[in-house]
Amino acid sequence: MKKKEKITKKAVPSGVKVVRTPQLLRGMKDLLPRDEFVWRQMRAVAQHIAVAYGFMEIETPIVEEASLFIRSIGRGTDVVEKEMYVFEDRDGTKVALRPEATAGIVRAYISHGMQNMPQPVKLWTLGAMFRHDRPQAGRYRQFHQFDCEAIGERDPIVDAELMVVAYNFLRDLGIDVRLDVNSMGSTEDRARYVEELLAYLRTKRSYLCEDCKKRLGRNPLRVLDCKQEQCAPVIEEAPQIIDWLSDASKNYFMKVLEYLDEVGIPYMLRATLVRGLDYYTDTVFELYAEEAPQAHSGEESGQDGAQTALGGGGRYDLLFEQLGGHPTPACGFAIGLERVASHLRSIAAENTASRPLDRPRVFVAQLGEQARRRALHIIEDLRRAGIVVRHHLGKPSLKAQLELANKYGTTHAFIIGQKEVQDGTIIVRDMESGIQETIDQKKVRVEVEKIMKG
Ligand code: AMP
Repeated sequence: MKKKEKITKKAVPSGVKVVRTPQLLRGMKDLLPRDEFVWRQMRAVAQHIAVAYGFMEIETPIVEEASLFIRSIGRGTDVVEKEMYVFEDRDGTKVALRPEATAGIVRAYISHGMQNMPQPVKLWTLGAMFRHDRPQAGRYRQFHQFDCEAIGERDPIVDAELMVVAYNFLRDLGIDVRLDVNSMGSTEDRARYVEELLAYLRTKRSYLCEDCKKRLGRNPLRVLDCKQEQCAPVIEEAPQIIDWLSDASKNYFMKVLEYLDEVGIPYMLRATLVRGLDYYTDTVFELYAEEAPQAHSGEESGQDGAQTALGGGGRYDLLFEQLGGHPTPACGFAIGLERVASHLRSIAAENTASRPLDRPRVFVAQLGEQARRRALHIIEDLRRAGIVVRHHLGKPSLKAQLELANKYGTTHAFIIGQKEVQDGTIIVRDMESGIQETIDQKKVRVEVEKIMKG
């Protein structure tokens, strides 16, 4: 220990300030180039599926008035009470980083008069959300959601369609999905049920965990969401909301299920499913992966993955009034992309065939100033044809370039030197066997396309 101190002192001469490198904040995550493939895949599938079902893209600001979220998500929820990033901006306005997408989209719908458009207005977005959550497996403080909302129509088919979109998004990415559904009924149904639930939970208070004891006073529905083992038997015996639904709410819910049956989407009725956010009414749903993801290097263990929802949503017919808009029915969902990404990495690790196919397979190498200029043209011609190749025109040494070609995992190098510039040719080298052949420069594009098709 003493020795170490001595070395440190020696290494930093007196009078020299040690500059500390700022660290990544807790709960935040860099998306690195090694993750690029899964993120590109998720974004592409999200866009494809949203457009296919007639959703239009919207992007709302990350920073909004804090009151937007406080009023929509509700006091007494963990998101508002404990997790929101709230601060005063330089004008003294109380602002927040969005913890979810729905509230911002609803605000945009109201402020841009979208009620004058044909209803429902179907909107989708994909972006970063912020919650000062306790960092743990699958929980970050900045995370991304794929979010779809259908605003302006109350019809069970709208609810069913949103579940189909969410389900198909995950299925199209190759994830085996389980869809859990429930109904929270109308506000009146819910109020009667909460009274009943509270009476029951009070009799079981001593069996509940400390968090749930606090929830009794603030938001008893959240007890049903608790993952603590000691609360499980209490939750199992609790009264079920389905028994407290009015006939109208029950009929609405039955219709939703019939439409799901119609399109062949399997689902499970889960009586204890109540979504954490205050604005839900009627249909609520969550999506789970059938299998937990494998933990990967640089990532926390995903052991609880099977129990952690990939996404969820539901109907929120009362939110608009809460935000000062006209009564407007709506339904939506959000899927957490970090959790989806960790499943996709597991799938890719198991199945090498699903590894990045669009990774460049060709490296263009050059030797000498003339060759470098020619290489520039070749790369540019390929790029115009939509073909991406690797290169490092700044490196003069051919050996160093071929080492890079190997590191990138490219299968072929196209090499051009002084002689090839004069002959109008280029050397094609198979990186694995080392076999080389010379081809006409005019044939580069055809040859690269052949290689890419593999
Ligand atoms: P919620 O808006 O709470 O219904 O969350 C919808 C989805 O977003 C969840 O199912 C998760 O996949 C994801 N999600 C929520 N909170 C976090 C978080 N702190 N870190 C990562 N993903 C999250």
